[in-house]
Amino acid sequence: MGDFDHKDYEDELRDDTWKDMGEGEVSEDDYEEDAEYGGGDNSGESAELTAQEAADSKTGKKEPDGQKKEGEYEDVCFICRRPESKTGKMFKLPNNISVCNDCMHKTMDTVSQFDYQGMLGNANWGEELDKISKGQGFPNISFVNLADLQGEGGIPNKQKMKRKKPKEKAEPALDFRNIPAPHKIKAQLDEYVVGQEKAKKIISVAVYNHYKRVATGTMDEIEIEKSNILMLGPTGSGKTYLVKTLARLLDVPLAITDATSLTEAGYIGDDIESVVSKLLAAAENDAEKAERGIIFIDEIDKIAKKRNTNSRDVSGESVQQGMLKLLEGAEVEVPVGANSKNAMVPLTTIDTRNILFICGGAFPDLEEIIKQRLNKGTGIGYGAELKDKYDKDKNILSKAAVEDIKKFGMIPEFLGRLPILCTLDGLTKEMLIKILKEPKNAILKQYQKLLELDEVKLEFDDGALEAIAEKAMEKDTGARALRAIIEEFMLDIMYEIPKDDNIGRVTITREYIENTGGPVIEIRSKRPEAPDLPNTAGKQGI
Ligand code: ADP
Repeated sequence: MGDFDHKDYEDELRDDTWKDMGEGEVSEDDYEEDAEYGGGDNSGESAELTAQEAADSKTGKKEPDGQKKEGEYEDVCFICRRPESKTGKMFKLPNNISVCNDCMHKTMDTVSQFDYQGMLGNANWGEELDKISKGQGFPNISFVNLADLQGEGGIPNKQKMKRKKPKEKAEPALDFRNIPAPHKIKAQLDEYVVGQEKAKKIISVAVYNHYKRVATGTMDEIEIEKSNILMLGPTGSGKTYLVKTLARLLDVPLAITDATSLTEAGYIGDDIESVVSKLLAAAENDAEKAERGIIFIDEIDKIAKKRNTNSRDVSGESVQQGMLKLLEGAEVEVPVGANSKNAMVPLTTIDTRNILFICGGAFPDLEEIIKQRLNKGTGIGYGAELKDKYDKDKNILSKAAVEDIKKFGMIPEFLGRLPILCTLDGLTKEMLIKILKEPKNAILKQYQKLLELDEVKLEFDDGALEAIAEKAMEKDTGARALRAIIEEFMLDIMYEIPKDDNIGRVTITREYIENTGGPVIEIRSKRPEAPDLPNTAGKQGI
């Protein structure tokens, strides 16, 4: 394209470009139709075929489909849909987009109608178009530089981004392909989860057996049954935490769902199969990875059979029924990258045979049922005096048997598919204190680390730990209360301490927690007076 001026160019377009459309075998209508059909994402192939056909029809020859080989295809203009044989050499843009000379000029012509607030001045368009096509751009305005788009080499250095270093993937603590012995799994869990010895033991064995079964495929003639787990335990005792820790150690995907949100298919709420979708999402849409993941269904006690109800129980017993197949192992069609099936999302099939299901619940009234069973036969004679023996038993839940849970409202088929029953203990004061300071990521350690960055040592005396645990016990939400309590009084510490560079050590005391005194502040240098640090409520000076 030499130096032609604006007007010449328009004439040329009128005379030349569209001329053969009206005359020839390929009408303008044809092109419009093609453009319509080829307008979507997958236009590439059909547009190319159409172009081929158009070219063929002009020359009067028609080849059978099978003979259209790769090399026989030619580029089609992204805008007017004419093949390269008609338009002459095309501009090649990224993403395999080609635009013919005419359309490119027409586009630029349209762009030029805008004056861009006078910035363009009285530019000579013939020259400018020429410049643009050579990649030199408009004066004062930086448009996309076409030369830059032509191949990688054209992109100037300043527009390149430095690659981020790929994150090194840490080796999982436990390798499910080569699953370590149960005592090793438990040792790993011990680092994070305080107490709950029995539960950790049961889970370690169950997980060991499960992943051994996954790694080897079902063994010989004896098909090993799935070791899905039913976990009972008061709220805040660490059910979710235990499962999360396990999944992280094994580096397998984990989906956590609330049973209360599930309903029978067709009713308002999530379909039961949505739990598998969630797992697929957790596995970054990798179906194979999802098939060896863990699904944790919390609040399972809320889908117990409703007693004395006449209406259809769409969120209780029906959900249990609906889950049977999943628990056992079924092929489920789930949408990829979405929560519900619809025409717009692709589906994939997930086999749940190797997915470990763990169901957890607090089962609030179960204790009464257990007591009733245990007290049976102790009403008369010698046994009578033992009648209230279990009333004081704090861990009565650990005596739960399948028949109690059945009585609670879980259907036998459902319980049959969760063969492993484990109970978590309610947390005692001692356990709460340990939870505060012992686990690898204990909450006190987190605060200590934060202040350490300011070179301040944070300490809690024993009285303070006890006071925090006592406060948490009152709330009756297990270990969940701990964080809220600590955050309340740590706010002032975290606010005031960085103000004064001289502070070297802060010791939190029982008095400070109970609002009857302040923390003990030690100064790094030998300055005599302590800084003025308000205590939690600001009621009392130090
Ligand atoms: P729930 O039993 O209701 O599922 P969670 O597992 O959600 O309780 O526990 C709440 C939080 O309490 C957890 O995030 C965890 O930090 C802490 N926690 C509970 N139990 C323990 C435990 N035994 N050891 C360590 N932390 C625990």
